Order: sequence, then C-alpha cells, then structure tokens
Amino acid sequence: MSDELETMYRELILDHASNPRHFGPLGSATHTADAINPLCGDKLRLYLEISPANQIENASFEGSGCAISMASASLLTETVTGLPVATAENCFESVTERLSHGKSVTRPGVSLDKLEALDGVREFPSRVKCATLAWHALHAALGNLSTPATTE
Ligand code: ZN
Repeated sequence: MSDELETMYRELILDHASNPRHFGPLGSATHTADAINPLCGDKLRLYLEISPANQIENASFEGSGCAISMASASLLTETVTGLPVATAENCFESVTERLSHGKSVTRPGVSLDKLEALDGVREFPSRVKCATLAWHALHAALGNLSTPATTE
C-alpha cells in the first residue's frame, strides 16, 4: 500500500472515531446487543431496527473504546443500514474472515470497500479484536442472543 493510501485510510479511521456516525441509542430499536473486548477495554451496545420484512431500517451504537473499535462500529452502522438481515449476516462473516484470517470471500450483496480502512489491523493481532468487536455485536443482535458478545 502506498504511503498516500495508508494516510488516507488512517484519516478515515480517525474521522469515524472522532466523529462517529449513528452514535447514540435508537428508540425504535427492535434488536440490541452488547459487546466487550476486555483486552483493550472497548465496550459498545449496538441497536438495530429490523422491519417485519427482515430489513435493517436503522442502526446505531454507543460505547467507548479505542479509535479502531469506535471507527469500526461507525463503519458498521453505515454499512448495514438498508440491508436485508441475511446480507448483514454475510457481512459479519466476511469481515471476521478477512480481519481474523486474511481471507477475502465474496458473498452476494456484500460490499466492504470502506472497510479496507481496517485491513491494517491484521498486522496487529491484538487490534483485530478491536476491529471485529462491533461485528460480533451485530452477529449477536441478529441472533438475538441474550448473553453479551465478547471477543474472548
Ligand atoms: Zn480497542
């Protein structure tokens, strides 16, 4: 990756971390999930409003943590808003495979171009958990699990 691209991606992460999109509780949420990453101290709650037709109408999150975890959650809410639940679940699988295992599997309806900004964390295994935290929350919320999601 060129220095220029690297700088751009870093800026995207810092931008989302300092100015997160869809931040705050969602009154109309039908599904929520908590997720914690004890290694770094990141914690967040994800809110989803899912229509009877299984479409994610709205997504938001609140929480605190490092720049990577907050930027990833912000990017997540932008990515999944408007998606069918099945496609969002595909996103979860694609993101975790890509960040945890470096595999890039194309799945129908999934466009993760923006999330390239997070690819740099693959160099730092402990930060992978920061980047995937919100996605574990997504997976938990879609599965409607009552136990908090954790990266451990
Ligand atoms: Zn973190």
